[in-house]
Amino acid sequence: MNDIWWQRLKEDVIDPGLETGDGTCVGVSEGTLAYKELPDGELQVVRTDDPQPVPQAAYDGCPGRSCNYPDLSQHVFGTLPKNMLSGVVRQAYIGHATNEAIRRAGASGGVITQILIHLLETKKITGAICLRMGVDVPWKARPVIARTKEEILACAQSIYSLTPVNTILSEIKEGDGPLAYVGLPDQVAGIRKLQMLNHPSVKNIKYILGPYTGTQMTFEAIRSFLRSSGVRSEEEIARLQYRAGEWPGHLQIDLKSGRTLKAEKFHYNYLIPFFITKGCRQLCDFTNELTDISVGDAWNPLLEKKGQGHSVILARSNAGQELLSEMQKKNILTLNSIKTNEALNMHGHMLDFKKRGSFIRNRWKSVQPDYGYRPVSIPTSRVVVEWILRLLFGFGHTRIARWSVEHLPLSVIGPIFNMMRKSWKAMSKPTKRKGLKEMKFVETRIS
Ligand SMILES: Cc1cc2nc3c(=O)[nH]c(=O)nc-3n(C[C@H](O)[C@H](O)[C@H](O)COP(=O)(O)OP(=O)(O)OC[C@H]3O[C@@H](n4cnc5c(N)ncnc54)[C@H](O)[C@@H]3O)c2cc1C
Repeated sequence: MNDIWWQRLKEDVIDPGLETGDGTCVGVSEGTLAYKELPDGELQVVRTDDPQPVPQAAYDGCPGRSCNYPDLSQHVFGTLPKNMLSGVVRQAYIGHATNEAIRRAGASGGVITQILIHLLETKKITGAICLRMGVDVPWKARPVIARTKEEILACAQSIYSLTPVNTILSEIKEGDGPLAYVGLPDQVAGIRKLQMLNHPSVKNIKYILGPYTGTQMTFEAIRSFLRSSGVRSEEEIARLQYRAGEWPGHLQIDLKSGRTLKAEKFHYNYLIPFFITKGCRQLCDFTNELTDISVGDAWNPLLEKKGQGHSVILARSNAGQELLSEMQKKNILTLNSIKTNEALNMHGHMLDFKKRGSFIRNRWKSVQPDYGYRPVSIPTSRVVVEWILRLLFGFGHTRIARWSVEHLPLSVIGPIFNMMRKSWKAMSKPTKRKGLKEMKFVETRIS
């Protein structure tokens, strides 16, 4: 059998470790591909025993190795970004869902959930593709097409474990839609690549929304957290929420035994160096640049003090901008316009992690992904910072480090990690922020 697209996918993307777990290739593979969880928690694409050859779209739609952001930007918005840190932005806002229950149900300001509900109620869509916890088992999320307000609300919140949303492409039927779609930057890039190819699976996706995405962890992080609390298996979980309670929220695991495990968001982050995925270290898109509307946490000392939930929102396309204006007029969303730079200032650390860090990290790979652009230059001092992170993550991923961290109580490791995180941020801030806004990028097109 001539299975050329499987061979190419394997050689060009999977074997060099460039597949990011977005789910695109599996979703359009017509049953010829699947994910397998590796012992370290990463997901790997494998060939199923379906005798049909892997379709070409599985290779062409995959954003792992080749994902030309300038071309995709032209295709989606008809223009290139003025600012490569943010991607195309028509208007930036700080805001939240006006409805208090929806605001509190969301990860930050409930904005994505509220937009999906509004789209459904005004009949602009018939369903929304989003992630829902607990459909098959209580500890895992899976992509669904939410068809009612209640189903959309059940998908609110952030899921920090690697979950390939685009596997759902195989379930979208001819007559489904129009649909909204929510995904992380690599997942959105996969959808946009397929739209550029006129692939039938994405024909009915009309609105694309997405969270900002800094870091993501493998499910091993949750297993480790459980083990450190004396719980032997995820089978004991009755409910898992990554951002329960008052913004910014905490990890909450309710066990079948009636016991509840909790960790503040910034304490739970101690697991990042041990379980961060390779995909989120590779990707150079933090603000979800190819969406119609992207949403992040509005990190700002005043808002953090207020609590309740505040989002930073970027309207990118005309459709996205019109939708937000309509919702603002109807007082469904509470929005205050801000300058794009003000929005970017809230996330200097993560922008640097993606816009400089990813390009340094990708240079260290034997086969590099092509995002269609790169920074013109990166100061040596910044490369040194990345080397320190490389050593930290390298050590964190060893069995001995993972074993050790499990044997320290959260009450000790959480605050220590938070203190170290703050000191590291303060120490590396001058290097990381220096020249970030003035960074120049160049297209890497080979014509
Ligand atoms: C892995 C991850 C990392 C993030 N990192 C950052 C960060 O570094 N800085 C920052 O400011 N914000 C980050 N965010 C975004 C932030 O957590 C909120 O999702 C965002 O502010 C939107 O809040 P909201 O209240 O409007 O969303 P909600 O109203 O809660 O809606 C969230 C929507 O996103 C979908 N969703 C949740 N998790 C996933 C997922 N893993 N894959 C695909 N869809 C998903 C849900 O199904 C839901 O529809 C991250 C989110 C994720 C999932």
